[in-house]
Formats: sequence, structure tokens, C-alpha cells
Amino acid sequence: MLMTTKPMFDLAYDGGFGIGGFNVNNMEMTQGIIEACAESRSPVILQISKGARAYANIRFLKHIIDACVEEYPDVPICIHCDHGDTMPLMQECIDDGYTSVMMDGSHHPYDQNVEITKAAVDLAHANGVVVEGELGKLGGIEEDVVGLDAAEYEANIEQFLTDATEAKDFYAKTNIDSLAVAIGTSHGAFKFTKAPKLAFDRIEQIMETCPGLPLVMHGSSSVPKEVAAKINEFGGEMKDSMGVPEDQINMAVQKYGVCKVNVDTDYRMIMTATIREVFAKNPAEFDPRKYLGPARTEMKKMCKQKLEMLNCVGKADEVIAHWKNQGEPMPAFYEKAKAGV
Ligand SMILES: [Zn+2]
Repeated sequence: MLMTTKPMFDLAYDGGFGIGGFNVNNMEMTQGIIEACAESRSPVILQISKGARAYANIRFLKHIIDACVEEYPDVPICIHCDHGDTMPLMQECIDDGYTSVMMDGSHHPYDQNVEITKAAVDLAHANGVVVEGELGKLGGIEEDVVGLDAAEYEANIEQFLTDATEAKDFYAKTNIDSLAVAIGTSHGAFKFTKAPKLAFDRIEQIMETCPGLPLVMHGSSSVPKEVAAKINEFGGEMKDSMGVPEDQINMAVQKYGVCKVNVDTDYRMIMTATIREVFAKNPAEFDPRKYLGPARTEMKKMCKQKLEMLNCVGKADEVIAHWKNQGEPMPAFYEKAKAGV
């Protein structure tokens, strides 16, 4: 069932669980995720980055997600634009039927970030769509979102974290629905050289200065050692790296109230590891179904683990009930979805 993130975050905010913001680029990845969510009875945010739009052609991806909504009417699904950065893109996503957009103005000077995020909020809210803003700087690289070098980021992490006082001002001036914060996570596969510690005290401070504002963690892949090892065992060349430990992510959602956790890299890794294994063990294989199929199965297994980590297994029905009971007026778009049309 299609919805915004609002009913999800309403419950996640003090419910001790988080919602996965999972990036999708093609049919197999999307199917792996949605099948895991359906079996685990979990709400999910399927997100599309600019890179995914360019790779897959947005019509194709949108229809794949629409198929998820049709096929799994009892799974709460939000379609989200990941790292949007211009107003024309916001308009396109809204026209395409996204229910949530991110306006990432974090690379701009503060006042400009406020200005562009506020413009996105005004446009999106008028269309019943919610907005995620971003404040602070992350390390690493995510497609065209270039953050800071791992070593530089690690050594100076304090100065890049989201400032709680600034967050309060940002929230007041923009009226965003959620905020991506820098609390020690990092984009991409090459995050840290040693085990990182998330800045839980900073999460607490931001929660205090911005009561009621759902917080989002980007760059929250764990870069599992065993998956990296498998990629390398079957001919890959992944450099050694540390991701964000799963127990820390679990603590962030369960104890500190983080509402959304973005994972992309780990899914890319499991797809790659599985496909490499098929090719290494059966070099004669040339049927894409024989390597994309197993990759989809492994992706689904990994997604189920992520949903456990986020503590959101079994939350789907609660979210749907909450959404249906919301007193606020819903645009016709959602009314139709609600009625199952
Ligand atoms: Zn991100």
C-alpha cells in the first residue's frame, strides 16, 4: 500500500524501530527487497537515486515499484527520491507519483540550504508529498554525492557532525518532515579504517532541540566481511574496509529513536558476490536468470536480516492501521490508494 513516510515515522519515532530506506536500481533488487518485506510484514521505503533514474530510465523503475504496490497491497510502501538536489527534479518526482523526496542542500552554504529546502517543502506539501532535508557532512562517496575522504573524515569527525542548535533553526525555517543527520556514518563501501562509533550523544542533543522531528541515517551499510571475502574469493578486488556495525545501527533505532536507515552498498555487494560465485563455479553459464535469480534470493535473505536489525519485523499492519485512521485530509491520490483502487 502506497503512503508517505509520515505514518511510518509517527510509529517509529518512539516505537523502538526504524524503517529501511533501500535503494533500488532494477527488477531483481526490488523484488528481493519487497519479497523480504512481505514475508517479514515490514514497512519499507523504496528509494531511487539520480543515478538509478539515469541507469534504468525512471518510467521502468517507477512501473517496477508500482508493481510492488499492486502485488503487495498489505505492505506499506513509500517511494522516495534519494539525494534530490534541484527544484525541477522535485517537480518531476512529484509528477511521477513519489510520496517522499529528499532535498539535499547540505553541500550549499547554510542559508542556501535553508532556502532550497524550504522551496522543496512548499512544493511537496502542496502535493501531499513529504520532504527529507540534510544537515552536516558525511564521509565517503555515493554515486555523484561525493563526501569526505575516509581518513580525513575519521580524524576530524567532530567538526562534520550535525549541529543540534543549527538543526533546530533549520527545522523551524524549513518545516521538513525528516532530517538526514551526520552522526558518524559514511557513504559507499570504503567507510572507515577502524570500527566507528556512532555519535549517540549528538543524536540525543538533536532529538532534544528538534522534538518530534524524525531523524535519518544515511551511509548505514555494514560492509560485511564475509560478503567482501566472497567477492574476493571469486575474483573480485574489494579493498578491506569497515562499515557501520549492525549492533550500533540497532541501538540507534531501538534506543535513540532514529526513524530511517539507508542501506545500499551491502545490497550491491551481495548481488556481486552471488553473481561472481555462479560464474566462478559454472563458467559455462550464460542465462541471466541463472545468476540474477540466485542474486535476488541472496538479496532477499540479506534484506530480512536488515529488517531484524531495524526491529521493524511485524510492524506493517500497525502502520497501515495508523495511516487509515489519520484524521488529516489526504490528497485524492492517497485516497485512491487507501481504498485499494
Ligand atoms: Zn545518502
